[in-house]
Formats: sequence, C-alpha cells, structure tokens
Amino acid sequence: MGGSAARAASARQGAIRRLFSAASPSIPTFAHKGGRGRALGLSLLLAALSLLLTTPAHAIELTGQLTQGGFVTGRTTPGATVLLGDRALMVGKDGLFVFGFGRDQAPTAQLTIIHSNGESEQQMLDIAQREFDIQRINNMEQAKVTPNPADLARIKADQEKINEVRGGAPTESQDFLVPFIWPAQGPISGVYGSQRILNGEPRAPHYGLDIAAPEGSPVVAPAPGWVRLVASDFFLTGGTIIIDHGFGVQSAFIHMKALQAKIGTYVRQGEVIGHVGQTGRATGPHLHWGMTWLDVRLDPAFWVPADGNLAAQN
Ligand SMILES: [Zn+2]
Repeated sequence: MGGSAARAASARQGAIRRLFSAASPSIPTFAHKGGRGRALGLSLLLAALSLLLTTPAHAIELTGQLTQGGFVTGRTTPGATVLLGDRALMVGKDGLFVFGFGRDQAPTAQLTIIHSNGESEQQMLDIAQREFDIQRINNMEQAKVTPNPADLARIKADQEKINEVRGGAPTESQDFLVPFIWPAQGPISGVYGSQRILNGEPRAPHYGLDIAAPEGSPVVAPAPGWVRLVASDFFLTGGTIIIDHGFGVQSAFIHMKALQAKIGTYVRQGEVIGHVGQTGRATGPHLHWGMTWLDVRLDPAFWVPADGNLAAQN
C-alpha cells in the first residue's frame, strides 16, 4: 500500500517543518540567556536577524519530529542536566540527549536544560497531534482475541520479559544515530497508532509498522545494536527479537520464524536476524516492527526513508 509510505514520508517532512517553527526563537517562553547581541553592530545585527528567520540559531538545538510517535535528538553542554517535563534524560559525555513522544502525547512538553555552571534554559515544545486510523481485523483466531486465564498468564510473563529489557539501564551507545534501513521489504499492511478492533472487540492501539512479505523472507537489523531478547514462541508476538541501539532506543521484531540472532551479541546493520513468519497473534505472514525509547512507543515510519522499501510504493 504505497499510500501509507507516502503519507509517512510527507508526515515526516511536515513534522520536520513543524520542528523548525517550534524551535524558532520567536517562541516567547524561550529566552537565550547570553547578552552577546548587545555587542553586535547594527549591520551584523540585521544579518543575524535575517539568519534567525531561517535557522533556529538560538533555540535549544533539536533534530527530529515534534509530533506524536516522534523522536528527537539534541545537544547541549557536557555535564548539563536535561529534563523533559520532570523526567531526567540521559546526557552523553558529548552533550547528546534524546527523547520521544508516545501516541497519546499531549500538545505541549517542557524541555529544561540546566548547565553545569548553573545557567538554565527552558523551551515549551509544541507537539503536533495526529489522527489515527481505525483498523478492523475480523478473521483473528478468537482464542488470541479473548485469551483464557492460562494464556493470559503466559501473556503477562512474556510482557514482563519485554518490560525487563526495555526497563534496563540505557547504554551510551549511539547506534541509533546511524540512518536506519528497512528491516524487511514489502507492502505496509499496518501503521502506527491505529485503533484496533479485533473480531469486533476494541483492543490496544497498534504500536508498530507491519510489513507484509512472504513467509521466510529475511529480516535484517535496520541499524547496529546489541541483541537483548530472543524468544521463539511468545503468545502474542511469536518469534520476537529486541535490539538495543543505545540511549534507551530499541527496535523489536515480532511474528518471526527461524530466528538467527543470538542474545547478547552485537549485530551489524543489514545482518539477517530472522525470517518473516506468522507466529503469535497474526493473521498472515508479516513483520511487525516496533520502535521504543524507554517505555515510550515511537513510530518506526519516521526512522526509514520512504524510498528504501520499493514494495511499499506500489
Ligand atoms: Zn503489527
């Protein structure tokens, strides 16, 4: 379904434009602390002002998508404390920090940076609100829609293993900065955020990107990282692999068969980690790909170029 990929691409471009305007220094809640502007000559000042119209020169420097499901990186002074709302973010030795927004993120979020010299800056971020599709799936095996108590216990145990991996201390690895490639090739059969109605019953939203591909098609690591979880038979997610790309950014690949990656190993970008299957709660062979930052579920469509999956454009 080419429309989905095209929409993702235009949503990405739109989000980047929104980020630019959101990071504009004209936002009244953001004030640059330095007084260097006073020292500028008039012509220099005019030149600087015209520059400000096109670049967020004095805003906190951010890159990414200020939208629901979006992911943002920023840089500040090494040793600074960075808060998103009241959540303290990991700050790398080089000043790198990252954050992301979930599907139901509120329209604003406050970013605060406290430098090691005590100076602080604050910026109110406008988070674009998206509209999500409703996806009805009517041919789901009923036992997977309304699991019995024994299956519910399995689901809970599986989820605890996943939560343990997601809740682990983030590493300083910056593998997530590598431009991602598509983990599989094929038409998009499910998008991030859609409200799921399974056999007529409302269920949790869909938090990943579904790529339909023939059973047995290779699934590759979209970026380098450490393999944190390999499970062949989770109840809902079937063959499941989670790769850690650093700073709490992880990618998950589910419904796979013939898993190849080994837990605790480091995979290179493009390395085959498993194969497309229909294990777990799936109605046909496809790869479900999820992206998370800590406990926040991100939209994988923002991570890959629209032209990197030719099958998605037909
Ligand atoms: Zn899915």
